[in-house]
Amino acid sequence: MTHTADRDVLGHRLPDTVRADFPILAQHPGAYLDNAATAHKPRAVLDAITGYYTTTNSNVGRGYHELGRRSTDVFEQAREAVRAALGARHADEVVFTAGTTDSVNAVADGLGRRLLGPGDAVLVSGMEHNSNLLPWRRLAEETDARLLVAPVDEHGRVDVAGFADLLGPRVRLVAVSHVSNVLGTVNPVAELIAAAHRHGALVVVDGAQAVPHRPVDVRALDADFYCFSAHKVYGPMGVGVLYGKRELLAELRPPRVGGGTVKGVSATEPVRYVPVPARLEAGTPNVAGAVGLAAALAYVDGLGWDAVRDHDQHLVRYAVRRLSERPGVRVIGAPERTPSGIVSFVVDGIHPYDVGGHLDERGIAVRCGVHCASTFLDSLGLVGTVRASFAVYTTPSDVDALVAALDSVRPGFW
Ligand code: PLP
Repeated sequence: MTHTADRDVLGHRLPDTVRADFPILAQHPGAYLDNAATAHKPRAVLDAITGYYTTTNSNVGRGYHELGRRSTDVFEQAREAVRAALGARHADEVVFTAGTTDSVNAVADGLGRRLLGPGDAVLVSGMEHNSNLLPWRRLAEETDARLLVAPVDEHGRVDVAGFADLLGPRVRLVAVSHVSNVLGTVNPVAELIAAAHRHGALVVVDGAQAVPHRPVDVRALDADFYCFSAHKVYGPMGVGVLYGKRELLAELRPPRVGGGTVKGVSATEPVRYVPVPARLEAGTPNVAGAVGLAAALAYVDGLGWDAVRDHDQHLVRYAVRRLSERPGVRVIGAPERTPSGIVSFVVDGIHPYDVGGHLDERGIAVRCGVHCASTFLDSLGLVGTVRASFAVYTTPSDVDALVAALDSVRPGFW
């Protein structure tokens, strides 16, 4: 339920009924502030998945029977739903993957190896999640290319000038996150992409932390590739998306080959692959996952993307203000300047894991540590942070509970 005070903080644009849409919240009354790791699923998504298996279950693209055709139809409808959500030009620019990690690896393996050679470079930012760092690092090692790292400014965003200084004719690929999973700051990706394109580099955007909180328009950004995971945007685990411009996806070497990717195979003739996206989706796809993702996107769309973003921005600013008032608590970065669902902080003299354990005992779920971005944490001179991350069902009361619980945290207390 939304309290009067909550309305003051939030501008009450999301319906009061949102929390009732998420069955797990009734089972776990504490404050779930670990949404950047994974978000809970609304009933609409759970029903869509159960409904798919109850009424439609059949393999896609192969069944010469009614259920097979229906299953193929709902799978392609899900693709169209993702296309619309991302503002992509064509549905065949949407490839279903297992998640962001899988999507980034698909580009690194499928295109990076072709583009990079000795002396070339791939440019990442200094704040990347391991899933958007290690594939590029391995690629650079295996192709004798260089891995360049763009600096992060004092506000916790990629420094545009520092980034541009690193571009040059040998930089073939750029990989950058849209939103930091550590600080919740929003990178100026449109500017970064434009700068990279001026130097002829292709850009892969890790949108894992952006898609849950803001409408994304891949065409307005002019992203060459855009990756995200369903489970962070209220959809199921194990499914995600690789968006790629049509002509670039066509260049991608399939990460896996197998059923569903070929027109026909003989022992002697060259293999003739089908066009993308099927060429990049070898084997039985996660149809129920795609259906669940489409339901999740429809759910957020029903709430209204502007309202979702507004809710999130109010919460971040409120959390930053409340946390900054606490003696000994330091918010990292400047998430209130470009808010996106995450606030990271440290408590003086207390290890983030101790803070997390203390909060857990009080029913507050946060994430502590390096958030799969240890190189970034190292560069900040921190052993880790406590990360509170928000969703459409998060209330200011959850933030209040977090702040109140911090009152009693002491070194060695937990
Ligand atoms: N990129 C960012 C910025 C993330 O926050 C995450 C997950 O936390 C990932 C990539 C990896 O996503 P997944 O584990 O769903 O593949």
